[in-house]
Amino acid sequence: MPLAPPWRRRKRRPKRERIGHEEPGWILRGPPIAVTCKCGEKRDLRYGEVWRCEKCGKRWDTGQIPAEQYEAIRRTQLRFRVLPVVYGLVVAAVAIFFSLTGNVFSVFVLLPMATLAWFVFVQPAHRRRYRRAIAGLPSWKLRPE
Ligand SMILES: [Zn+2]
Repeated sequence: MPLAPPWRRRKRRPKRERIGHEEPGWILRGPPIAVTCKCGEKRDLRYGEVWRCEKCGKRWDTGQIPAEQYEAIRRTQLRFRVLPVVYGLVVAAVAIFFSLTGNVFSVFVLLPMATLAWFVFVQPAHRRRYRRAIAGLPSWKLRPE
């Protein structure tokens, strides 16, 4: 390894790709599609994206998935993402209402209760329903090109 001054040692890599499922905007655009190549390579693709496997050169086109089926999945995911947000907004609204009516003490009761209720009742039921909903969704066999 050649010697280099510290300010040159770190090569900046282009930030082209983000890894994982938290790519910004995927909630509205739809979830990534996990494609597994016949050689074992895996990749998360966006709907409509085409990927050429680096190992074996096969081409995978997510455009083969029928649009209405992907749309159903997108909607299911979105629907289940909305509930925690709505719950948070409702709790916040009630907290603000109590604060404005001078009931600050109630806020200190409400917030722990609401948090507890979320983790004990709402979230487990929500998860069960979500799991059932995504279990009913189709998966596809893509054909390499
Ligand atoms: Zn491959």
